[in-house]
Amino acid sequence: MNLDTPIEFLKGIGPDRAKLIKNGFGLSTVEDLLHFYPIRYLDKSKTYTVAELRPEESPEIQLKGRITDLREVGEGRTKRLSAKFHDQTGTMDLVWFRYTNWMKEQIPQNTELYIFGKVSFFNGTFSMSHPEIEVEDKKEPMATLWPIYPSSEKLTKRGINQKLFQNILKAVCTQIPQMIEENLPDYLMEALKLMSRQEAFLNIHFPKTFAHYQQAERRLKFEEAFYFQLSHGLKKRYHKRHSFGNPFPVVGDYFNDFYQNHLPFELTGAQKRVLKEIRTDMKKPVQMNRLLQGDVGSGKTMVALLTMLLAMDNGFQSCLMAPTEILAQQHFAGISELLQSTDIKVRLLTGSTKTSERKIIHEELLSGELPILVGTHALLEDVVKFKNLGLAIIDEQHRFGVAQRAKLWAKNNIPPHILIMTATPIPRTLAMSFYSDLDVSVIDEMPVGRKPIITAHRREKDRLSVFRFAKEEIDKGRQIYFVYPLIEESETLDYKNLMENFVHITEFFDNQKVTMLHGRMKPDEKEASMKYFASGKAEIMVATTVIEVGVNVPNATVMIIESAERFGLSQLHQLRGRVGRGAEQSYCILMTSDKLSKESRTRIKTMTETNDGFKISEVDMQLRGPGDILGTQQSGSVDFKKLDLVTDFAIIKKAKESIDVLLGEDPMLLLSQNMNIKNYYIKNYQGKKNWGKIS
Ligand code: ADP
Ligand code: MG
Repeated sequence: MNLDTPIEFLKGIGPDRAKLIKNGFGLSTVEDLLHFYPIRYLDKSKTYTVAELRPEESPEIQLKGRITDLREVGEGRTKRLSAKFHDQTGTMDLVWFRYTNWMKEQIPQNTELYIFGKVSFFNGTFSMSHPEIEVEDKKEPMATLWPIYPSSEKLTKRGINQKLFQNILKAVCTQIPQMIEENLPDYLMEALKLMSRQEAFLNIHFPKTFAHYQQAERRLKFEEAFYFQLSHGLKKRYHKRHSFGNPFPVVGDYFNDFYQNHLPFELTGAQKRVLKEIRTDMKKPVQMNRLLQGDVGSGKTMVALLTMLLAMDNGFQSCLMAPTEILAQQHFAGISELLQSTDIKVRLLTGSTKTSERKIIHEELLSGELPILVGTHALLEDVVKFKNLGLAIIDEQHRFGVAQRAKLWAKNNIPPHILIMTATPIPRTLAMSFYSDLDVSVIDEMPVGRKPIITAHRREKDRLSVFRFAKEEIDKGRQIYFVYPLIEESETLDYKNLMENFVHITEFFDNQKVTMLHGRMKPDEKEASMKYFASGKAEIMVATTVIEVGVNVPNATVMIIESAERFGLSQLHQLRGRVGRGAEQSYCILMTSDKLSKESRTRIKTMTETNDGFKISEVDMQLRGPGDILGTQQSGSVDFKKLDLVTDFAIIKKAKESIDVLLGEDPMLLLSQNMNIKNYYIKNYQGKKNWGKIS
């Protein structure tokens, strides 16, 4: 037997069962079987008696005795299978709610056996539902923890049951010493106190003790994280060596003049640190690919502007691309304002830019006269040509795909440096694992004097007091947002809802001006409405999630989110970020219906408990899974066998550190102590041919 042996040649399987196992669980070789991990274990180290049972909630336990009185009881939907279980100390009930005749016939009566499961206490009696049953085995047990493998009713009926898997894996495990080669170096296993690979496979299937199981699991998780990080680390190194970029060695007049004379505020420590990271990147003749993460309001725009000034100092043009027209306009307005007392020119290019203006932009870009261009996807069009684009900044990367990034690259002979800004913090495990071609900078500090937003959960019955509170804030001179879910812009019902509420709000707030923003409006209508609110002419903005990203009205202090249970966590956090942008205390009120699902409750509770975008993103990942957060493009790559991106942060971090050290010292994996890493990597991840390409 070796790792490649097809499972049909194993004793007890054969071609028919092999086919069923392949279809059912995707296993075809001995190696697959070794990676077919138990879903749980039966603890056979202790056998309880009925007299020892306690009414409190208990883990799964094992009892030894006999089953009698097996019969069907109840009618229709309450029909179930019931039996008694006896040992020397007493009697308890057994019950099956789902069963087939075949299953019923398999339950042995009046013979000594073990049952295993969770005991519950109801109406003065103990009972166990759907117990695992095992007829007493006189032979010496191989382990105290007994593996339970994934199963399906269909396969169980065909004789592919727990017993079969346990027997096959017992046989396979005896061959582990001949089949399994170590794939981590000794020095690493020693330093991290990792179990050997052989021991790990043995103990993941048949743990000697619970502690052995834990060690085995830790080792196998580490191995997955290690090779995953290695593959990303090698690709990143390759990319760095092979992607030429224009070096920006100069910090010149544009930057210095702005920094000394026009900066409206002191930069935060985090902004300074991030700028330093960016500068270090751009000094090199290698293309920068950096992701800038910073919570809403952390001041990414200023970092973007200063970076563009650096590009100017080195004789290059920059562009800033935003995902929506409104956002692009806001960026343009903000940057124009910051630059107004300088003579630096900036222009805006979007889908609704007039032809005459476009022509000027095209010309000025080609001649090099225009140093900074802000815009939407319109920037990507082929007609938009730069004289020498040196830097492309992309806001909100979640909305742009890889293909679009590639289009930006192609706008210059030597690709421009790329800075991607996102306000959606990515959980640290994901950032560490998935951005193989990106370096990550984090602004983890808010400008001083910002008051944390107070978030509250309210229901329909509280509406009057919520409205009154909003009115009080308006009387103090503040502005208010009402946001309604409009998940699909075409959902007529949501649309109607928005219109009706708009009427209610104008009625209640009869002394105030109310304006509206939604996806069915034309760009110029949107812009007019936004301006009306931003200028302070309207006190109230009733909107859909169109306003989700980037909108900046510092005087707005109350964000009322209607039907908040219909929004995802990151969306709620983004919406909340529209307030708290000035010096005044801001509030976010989450209105929901009375009945909430468990998940909605968790989301609402998380929002009321924290303002920290990173914490929120971790909860979001726990609720939705890493695949959903990364988007479909990368969700396939989160298919780990043991490793869990949500809970195994410590292991992933260790693996990342180990890889950084390894590739720092031995980037080509030439040292003999690292031979087994290289061999395993080539065999399982890379292929020999490609190794040359990567290293
Ligand atoms: P975001 O990271 O969400 O894009 P912005 O760049 O829009 O944040 O900044 C939010 C607000 O904070 C803006 O009004 C900006 O002028 C202000 N701001 C940015 N940096 C600082 C700072 N260091 N000190 C004070 N205010 C700042
Ligand atoms: Mg922004």
